[in-house]
Amino acid sequence: MTDITGIEAFDEVKRLIVIAAHADDLETMCGGTIAMLAQRGVTIFSVNCTLGDIGAQEKETSRWTLAATRIAEAEDAAEILGIEQTYNLSRPDGELVADLELRAQIARLYRLTQADSLLTFDPYWTGQAHPDHRAAGQVALDAYMPSKMPLYRPEHLNETGAALGKIERVFLFQASPEPEIYVDITAIYDTKMAACRAHVSQFPKGDDSLKWMNELDKGRGEKIGVTYAEAFKSMRVW
Ligand SMILES: [Zn+2]
Repeated sequence: MTDITGIEAFDEVKRLIVIAAHADDLETMCGGTIAMLAQRGVTIFSVNCTLGDIGAQEKETSRWTLAATRIAEAEDAAEILGIEQTYNLSRPDGELVADLELRAQIARLYRLTQADSLLTFDPYWTGQAHPDHRAAGQVALDAYMPSKMPLYRPEHLNETGAALGKIERVFLFQASPEPEIYVDITAIYDTKMAACRAHVSQFPKGDDSLKWMNELDKGRGEKIGVTYAEAFKSMRVW
């Protein structure tokens, strides 16, 4: 059996980029861990690949209005969690594909942010029901190797502050088979909840809309004998 570790798995992380598909993915999957890392002085960058513009139950909602709302909600949540900067790559929700242009957009952000670590969806989890989540994880993994190679999209390197990518560590959420990192987020759970509640369009009933997440976090907490936890896998980077 793999040894289980906690927040110390992130001890060497100084600049972390999180690649997700939709506004609210980061907050619900790893908002507690992100808040803890930000408090420890880690610089956090958040990337959402899609506009989240089909995330509504009513047909009357305009996709553009919803997209604008969700970008604003992501900014509010980022402030609560202590995220340095958020990016949105403006892909249509529900149609994300790990194509070469998206790979280049992500590689550019690895070069601009100079992140040393990546946190994203596990694209290999067979239980992943959402194609956008799978595509976001896949493209995030696909982009780090080319970002380190000077002949790949060299125009990126002319941008102010850009240099070759330096991702050295990869962490995955919604990970298969069994996560080996469980972070106790009990002490910071109020902050995670506040960041999630910032996504009013997704959780209109506040805490009542987030009970599913509470159950998931409790289930992970039980694995390590605490109230709430988030779980991750780490992946070796060559
Ligand atoms: Zn999502």
